[in-house]
Parts: sequence; C-alpha cells; structure tokens
Amino acid sequence: MITAPPRSYVLLIGITMAVLALSSLIASSHLKKVSAFDEDGYIKFIVSKVNESKTNITESTGATAVPDSAKGPSIPTKGYLVEKLGDSLYSVMDGSYNTMFMVTDKGVVAIDAPPSLGQKYLKAIAEVTNKPVNYVIYSHAHIDHIGAAGIFPKNVTIIAQEETARELQNAKAVAKNVTMVPPVPTITFTKNYNLTIGNQTLKLDYYGSNHLPGNIFIYAPKQKVLMLVDIVFPGWVPFPYLAIAKNVTGFIKAHDIALDKYDFDKFVGGHLTRLGTRNDVAVQKGFIEDLKNAAMKANQEVIFSKVAQQVGHFDNPWFIYSKYIDAVNEKCTQLLLPKWENKLGGAGVFIPTHCFSMSEAERVDPTVQALTQK
Ligand SMILES: [Zn+2]
Repeated sequence: MITAPPRSYVLLIGITMAVLALSSLIASSHLKKVSAFDEDGYIKFIVSKVNESKTNITESTGATAVPDSAKGPSIPTKGYLVEKLGDSLYSVMDGSYNTMFMVTDKGVVAIDAPPSLGQKYLKAIAEVTNKPVNYVIYSHAHIDHIGAAGIFPKNVTIIAQEETARELQNAKAVAKNVTMVPPVPTITFTKNYNLTIGNQTLKLDYYGSNHLPGNIFIYAPKQKVLMLVDIVFPGWVPFPYLAIAKNVTGFIKAHDIALDKYDFDKFVGGHLTRLGTRNDVAVQKGFIEDLKNAAMKANQEVIFSKVAQQVGHFDNPWFIYSKYIDAVNEKCTQLLLPKWENKLGGAGVFIPTHCFSMSEAERVDPTVQALTQK
C-alpha cells in the first residue's frame, strides 16, 4: 500500500501538472497568441504557487515529504532566474522549465524556447548582452520545450537532429495553421554537429532515440556543462512513465552515455525546480537500476494464472490483465519506494507509473529484456 501523500505535496504535484498542461496548451496555440498571452499574469501566478508550495514542503513530514535535494532557488517575481554557468554560458529557469544560452563574438546561441518562458527568454538574454540571437538549437521536437521559437528573428539559423526536423515537417504537413508549428530547422545533422563561433563551442551529439527520436546531447566543453532534456530530473523522479520515453532502452542508456562520454560538472535537464550536477545523473542512474531490478522481480513473482484464478471469471480478458498489471505495479512499488521516497521528490506519486513502463518493457521489448536480464 502507498500511504496518502500530505496535502502540500499533492498541491505541488498538482501545480507541476498544471504548469506542464498549461505549457502544452500555450505551446499548441498560435505563436502570435503566445506573444499576446498574458505572460506576466501567467508567470506571476505560477511563481506565486511554486513559492507557496515550497513553504508548505518545508512543513511536510512523513514518507512522501519532498527531500531537500528537490528544492531549487526562488524565482524572482519577474518570472525567471538567470545564472552564469561558465564563460559566456547562462541558464534561464522559471521554476518548472530551464534551458541555457551562449553569448559569442557574433551573437547569441539560444537553446530551445519553452513557452512557459516565452518573451521572458528574450528579457533574460537582454540582461547579459545586447547582441541578437542568430543561432537556435532544438534539443528535441516537443513543443513544451521549443514551442516559443517564433520569438526569435526570422533569419535565425536553427540547428537540430534530422529526426527533429522530420517531426516538425510532419507536423507542418498536417497543421491547419502552419504558424502553430515551431520553425523548421535550417541546418540538420545525423550524428554530430560542432557549432564553433570565435572561441566558443557547443557539441551536439545523437546516439539514437531515447526520450524521443532526435533528442540530442548538448555539450559545452570549455564550461563543462551538459544539457540533455527530459531524461534526468535533478532532485526528482522523472515525469510519469519514464518521462513518456519513446525508447526505454535509449532512455536507460542515456544515463551511461552522459556519465561515460562527457566531462561535466553542471547539468541542464529542462526541468524542474533546479539545475543539476554530475551527481544528479549518477543518482538517477541508481534509481533506474533499482527500478529495472524491482520490475523484473515483480514480473517474476506475480503469476498471471493466479491473478486470473482470483478474478474467477474470464469473459473480459482486459479486466484480468488490468488486475495483473495492478499487482505487478504494487509489488514493484513495494520493492522500490522505501529506498527512494526520501531521496527523490515525487517518488511516492510517480513510482507506480515508472514500474508500469519498465515492467511492460521487460515483458515485451526484446532489447530491454536483454539489457535487464544480463
Ligand atoms: Zn520532451
């Protein structure tokens, strides 16, 4: 059994979901509507709710209290926080989304354009430079991260992995109003692309599908900063169902790729309350390892025929299967939750969803099965 989370915790999760849902709504609206959206009101509302919930978190006690490691810096009332990550490299965050931009001799390289930031992204950039944005990099095609890319100048160069370009071209092909779709990339690459301007470099690498086909590793070698979106959520368990990973094997392997191939101190994950470090990636790798094992044990110990016998009638196979899934998820959650509920925020709420994604992948995905049964 999972104990009911404290009300403040439910509030925080509710707010987070509302932020994500609202952001998706904004992202899917006409780009002109994005700029016309009452961003001041929206951001102030979100910031006030996040700050309010932080006060409540401090008061939370019990198994599902949010650990200190999940807490981030307060977001100023202007709705965003800019921090220097290293030489000419800056992060921007609003308490729910985060991204980064680089200032070079020839202008600014902006990564992503989350609609939750919208025009605030340009204000954040203007705080540190008066140079124009002339390059944009898309981490991946999801519009809650790039949906506001229409805020940048029309002649901007947009770089993305070719799968991201394909996804956006497909969206344009079916869109009733093409301006709803973020601008299609002007430069695409298959595996690697190095963007070097003056003495600054960003390395873009693709290792195959993980969270989504086209989701890339963005690395600033001089600053030792790695950006990888919607894989690692510093201080928190991932968004539900392994952050809706399209490729569970790719999602699992992304942790090893980050740790084995990149020398980084700071990590930008796209969410949630704070930026991360190398240790945050290692911590989530540990969580995913434990999840793999818990899901495998649950799959082994929960016997389908026994669940079917308990149900007692066989006229609705989906009903039996739902009881089977519930039993596997409950077993997996029992194995995993005690170790992680005080280490990662949201563990008590979202672990059952991660148990479902992993146990289902271990049942049907031959690569995940091979990976977890070695
Ligand atoms: Zn995404």
